[in-house]
Amino acid sequence: MLVGKIKTKKQLKVILQKIAKIENVKSLRFRSAIDKQYNIDGMYNGITKTITISQSLPIRTTLLTFFHELGHHVAVENGLWHRYHRGDDKFSAEYAFLIENSIDKIARMLWRKYVDTELHKRYVFTYTKARKAYFVAFFRDYFNIEEDYIEKDVLNKLLTLK
Ligand SMILES: [Zn+2]
Repeated sequence: MLVGKIKTKKQLKVILQKIAKIENVKSLRFRSAIDKQYNIDGMYNGITKTITISQSLPIRTTLLTFFHELGHHVAVENGLWHRYHRGDDKFSAEYAFLIENSIDKIARMLWRKYVDTELHKRYVFTYTKARKAYFVAFFRDYFNIEEDYIEKDVLNKLLTLK
């Protein structure tokens, strides 16, 4: 399974559904608006193992968003950052950034596995270090994060992740 030349969104959806199935994602949905207020492109629910992607994105953005969300799924499947994905614990916004940045590293691995990189080039991080300040502010606001809570287990896993 390799994402090659894609001409239409329909074609892209078919191939993404196949990859989602291989990776044991329960459901991959495309919705017209998933979070208008915060302009979110994609979401992953770690409890239902569902990926939701905005319907209105261009092909490349859809592809990048899918792999970011798949990164969340693979992390959950491997027992990484359960509390973060269940959303029932408080983290510092800085910390959420670190996790999201690590998710992008997993996403990049998956991109290399499933995408023809001659055609689609490199995976672009959703949360780049250059935009860290912006996203820290975003997380703080979106998840209403105040406390500086760091789980030791999470920290250890973050430190060992390349
Ligand atoms: Zn994310």
